Amino acid sequence: MDWLNLRFTSAMPESGQILLDCTHNPWLVALAYVVMCGASFATLNMAERATQADSEAGRRRWRGVGALCLAGGIWSLHFIAMLAFKAPVAIEYDLQMTLLSLLIVLVAAVLTMRMLSQRELRATQCLLAAVLIGLGIAAMHYSGMGAMRSSATLYYQPGLFALSIAIAILTSLAALMLGLYFRQGDEQTHQWLKYGASLVMGLAVASMHFTGMWSMVLVVPEGTPLQLQSANNSLQLALVVAGITLVTVASSLGAAWADRKLQHKERDLMRVNALLSQLGHAKASLQQIADFDALTNLLNRRGLNQAFAERLRDHAQRGKPLAVMFIDIDHFKRINDSLGHDAGDELLKVIAERLRGALRENDVIARFGGDEFCLLASLHSKEEARQLAQRMMLHLKDPISLAGRCMVMTASIGISLFPDDGTTSEELLKHADMALYQSKGSGRNNAHFFNAQLKAKAGIELQLEEELRLALKQEMGLQLYYQPILELNTGLLSKLEALLRWQHPEHGLLTPDRFIGIAEANGFIAELDNWVLHRACQDLHLLSGGNYPELKVAVNCSALNLSREALAREVGEALEIHGVPAQRLELEVTENALMGNVNLAVDLLQQIRELGVSLSIDDFGTGYSSLAYLRRLPLDTLKIDRSFIQDIPTSTQGMDIIQAIIGMAHTLRLRVVAEGVENEQQLAFLRKHGCDFIQGYLLSKPLSLEALQAFLLQHREPIKPARLLSG
Ligand code: C2E
Ligand code: CA
Ligand code: CA
Repeated sequence: MDWLNLRFTSAMPESGQILLDCTHNPWLVALAYVVMCGASFATLNMAERATQADSEAGRRRWRGVGALCLAGGIWSLHFIAMLAFKAPVAIEYDLQMTLLSLLIVLVAAVLTMRMLSQRELRATQCLLAAVLIGLGIAAMHYSGMGAMRSSATLYYQPGLFALSIAIAILTSLAALMLGLYFRQGDEQTHQWLKYGASLVMGLAVASMHFTGMWSMVLVVPEGTPLQLQSANNSLQLALVVAGITLVTVASSLGAAWADRKLQHKERDLMRVNALLSQLGHAKASLQQIADFDALTNLLNRRGLNQAFAERLRDHAQRGKPLAVMFIDIDHFKRINDSLGHDAGDELLKVIAERLRGALRENDVIARFGGDEFCLLASLHSKEEARQLAQRMMLHLKDPISLAGRCMVMTASIGISLFPDDGTTSEELLKHADMALYQSKGSGRNNAHFFNAQLKAKAGIELQLEEELRLALKQEMGLQLYYQPILELNTGLLSKLEALLRWQHPEHGLLTPDRFIGIAEANGFIAELDNWVLHRACQDLHLLSGGNYPELKVAVNCSALNLSREALAREVGEALEIHGVPAQRLELEVTENALMGNVNLAVDLLQQIRELGVSLSIDDFGTGYSSLAYLRRLPLDTLKIDRSFIQDIPTSTQGMDIIQAIIGMAHTLRLRVVAEGVENEQQLAFLRKHGCDFIQGYLLSKPLSLEALQAFLLQHREPIKPARLLSG
């Protein structure tokens, strides 16, 4: 190993040699250590960059920079430490050997960077790497020493020589482990660990170097002139080398820092992008929930409002008409109540499908909740709107099979037109609603257009509503009229029907058809009916004093009232308060009232019946009741609607129906009242077919309480129907 100058003290001649006394400049030693620590710190940073790089090219680049920093650091340490070395002979360095040592350290540094930039390293890999790196550093050191040329001969003490190699390996191992470990933990610990690792790495290389130097012995033959080497230019040189290394290290660190910032920015940007797209998806699904009806997948009210605003803008610009239609399914509630809500939902889906099927491409349809749908349709003419409405009604009429039944649904439609009936969505919707109200009021299953009279009527109704509430609250203007009912068998005035009147300050005496609907629509019909009940009981009590102990009073009960469970209790209270026996009160309920929720109505009627109050079914024949329902109800009386009585004597078909109703009622053990009997033919027919009671103008119009008292006085004796017949 002569070319390496590797000789051990065991081969040293025993005499004729002088051991040279060598020293180190401590400042330069410290500088060498600082440079090495700086280079180590940069190396660790580059390794970190390499592990975090997004591409293979990036990884390779940072590994390269890291290897340069490390090799530069180790080589600078060696170089500066050699400049710090002072011996009493002249020393020079062989360039080739020096370059070789640089090459060796570069190889070792590349190897180190490879290891450090692994995400994970197994224990054996770590050990092997430490051995290779340690040997590399040692090889660099000793080849660097081999470049030394002087009159002195160089020997190494084997123990210390081995120790220096062991130190190189062990400290490399420690540095590797620290280097791999410092990536864990939070940002702060990580930074501190990195500083620690840099110091250890610096210490590792320095201690290897100085142990190597310690193991070195320089000898000269006796008589060789010795001179103490002056520090001459070694300090400047050391500073230049240190400066260059530190500048390289600093610029690598700067580049790594910039890269890291850039990468963070990029990642932040990517994260923001990902969040934005997630937000976009979330917004879209929220939009879907917010604007669409979950059951039918049609737009909901909110969705329609948005579409409406756009359509209005568009149509206003182009000056084209637009139709707004409210579509209400007739008697839908009945399906819901009798077949259950699931069947109701199914039905709504089918209906939605049918309606959609009747539309044109550009029409917008929405479900407003319940059984109410709303449609926006671009038009060329009013006629087109009518056709569209008819098409929808036709589509609906196809039988639908549901829950094992086959049913035919119909709809009522209200239509308003832009710009004739309004220019804002609120106005148009309100007017379409008024038109719908009109359709429902005129028997359903038809379509109505809005018109100005409707609006005027709505205005009047609004005022009437306020006034009616006030009249009820202050008990002013409301009064009961009574229409006598004659029992045909006995000729006795056995019953009265209480009929409400409203003495209006401007409009005069109003009949119930002008205001009962208002009270029903505005939620105070229960109060109104309750007022009638109390007043009727009070008046009956009064009449009982005047020799009519058997007289009964029949009070009308709104359909809406039959869904209130408090009704039975209220009836009981009214009887009690006014001291009227329950047998003298009768409640009249319409067929349709009973169809809403049959079970609830049957329960309620049962309770009322248990009080002793009798029940009659009013306006019979106009509604939808079937015999099956009638049988379930605890009824006493059936009132044939006036429209049938009017058929006598002109319509034989109508007369057949009356006959059938009387027969059926008697089979069900119900007594029959004929309403609206106005002439003798009607009376004769009814008598002939066994009708039990008659009520109508033939006997008497509804009378005020005073007029009734006079009437009763006049007819103290039983009235012979023959007398009525003769006029
Ligand atoms: P309704 O129960 O069918 O009452 C009979 C209606 O027929 C009464 O009209 C009566 O005046 C009328 N009428 C009786 N005989 C004849 C006749 O021979 N010819 C003609 N053309 N009409 C006759 P009114 O008093 O206008 O009552 C209308 C409806 O208002 C009643 O029909 C009833 O459903 C409702 N109503 C009356 N009072 C009340 C009440 O206190 N509460 C509730 N909820 N509704 C009431
Ligand atoms: Ca009635
Ligand atoms: Ca009636």
